[in-house]
Amino acid sequence: MNTTVKAYAAKSAGATLAPFSFDRRTPKDTDVCIDILYCGICHSDIHAVKNEWGGGHYPLVPGHEVVGKVTRVGEKVSKFCVGDIVGVGCYVDSCRTCIHCKDGLEQLCLSALFTYNSFREGAKTPTYGGYSTHVVVDENYVLRIPDSLSLERAAPLLCAGITTYSPLANLGVQKGWRIAVCGLGGLGHMAVKIAASMGASVSVLSTSPNKAQDAKRLGAHEFYATSDSETFTKLAGSFDAILDTISATHDMDAYLSLLKRDGTLTLVGLPGEPLSVHPFSLVRHRKKLTGSLIGGIAQTQEMLDYCGKHHIMPDVEIIPMQSVNEAYARVLKSDVRYRFVIDMQSLR
Ligand code: NAP
Ligand code: ZN
Ligand code: ZN
Repeated sequence: MNTTVKAYAAKSAGATLAPFSFDRRTPKDTDVCIDILYCGICHSDIHAVKNEWGGGHYPLVPGHEVVGKVTRVGEKVSKFCVGDIVGVGCYVDSCRTCIHCKDGLEQLCLSALFTYNSFREGAKTPTYGGYSTHVVVDENYVLRIPDSLSLERAAPLLCAGITTYSPLANLGVQKGWRIAVCGLGGLGHMAVKIAASMGASVSVLSTSPNKAQDAKRLGAHEFYATSDSETFTKLAGSFDAILDTISATHDMDAYLSLLKRDGTLTLVGLPGEPLSVHPFSLVRHRKKLTGSLIGGIAQTQEMLDYCGKHHIMPDVEIIPMQSVNEAYARVLKSDVRYRFVIDMQSLR
């Protein structure tokens, strides 16, 4: 039994998104069928549509910040029931046997099946993402949404939330740490909320001076415009950790100069072009440059429960599917406050 779903897709690299329909796969006995209620717009969707990382397969249906309601469960499903509110993030399966899967780092599995633009073994078409009305997912890759989170605001936690929570939690951020968040967009504003909730003193570094008031409202203690040449001299050697969420190429040496001795800059932003680093930026004060990719299933559930407990939710602007191309244009102008979320009712 296949379900025909309505969706929006880019028909070729860089094309505007337009209506598209396709059949979801026949559910297996370990699958959960989900009516999609909301889907966030991640900048990764835009990189993928524009094929900025290469490897794009078209038509491409983006969307990996999915919240929906369970409509059907297979006979062997034990974790979910019809009517449950659930989430799906950036991947929908992995090999389950490699060292990464065994360590709960399914996102790093070399066979991870991403929610869109990825091929299930033997499939002729790629996976299609959350800009659609329904999805079928193995129960082990489905998350529970805590009751205390509002449905439309929970969706961005499935990517922006876990991508910022994971490195902050893994670093062991504590009260008194001084943290810089670079780029105040979807990921950046979640990083501010989560780092502040962990007790850190948070500074935002931004190219948009008009986001200063928002930064404070979101929980940042300080805001610095990167266009102000004094910012980089004033803040040299100041931060225990930096979370770099910038979606375009930028001067890594300038940001690394802001770390304290032994401090860590974690790159989560994924510009399509290489970034360069001068060796002295790392060597002189034993600075660490690392990266982080979303998070494992267990840690994603931990993040959702943490956000539920601490009432941490993104600031969202809800849009109908038909406005997606305008939303993309605004994200590209850094004019997102701070995550667009598509109301999938608009597709039904
Ligand atoms: P977003 O909402 O567009 O935010 C990116 C922010 O970066 C912008 O709002 C802007 O903030 C800043 N920025 C943009 N262009 C810039 C430039 N040329 N120089 C300096 N700053 C600039 O994007 P997002 O959804 O948060 O995603 C951010 C990046 O993370 C993307 O590359 C995305 O693909 C990647 N990502 C990675 C993972 C992962 O697992 N590692 C997961 C999700 C997304 P200001 O206005 O404050 O300057
Ligand atoms: Zn994403
Ligand atoms: Zn694996």
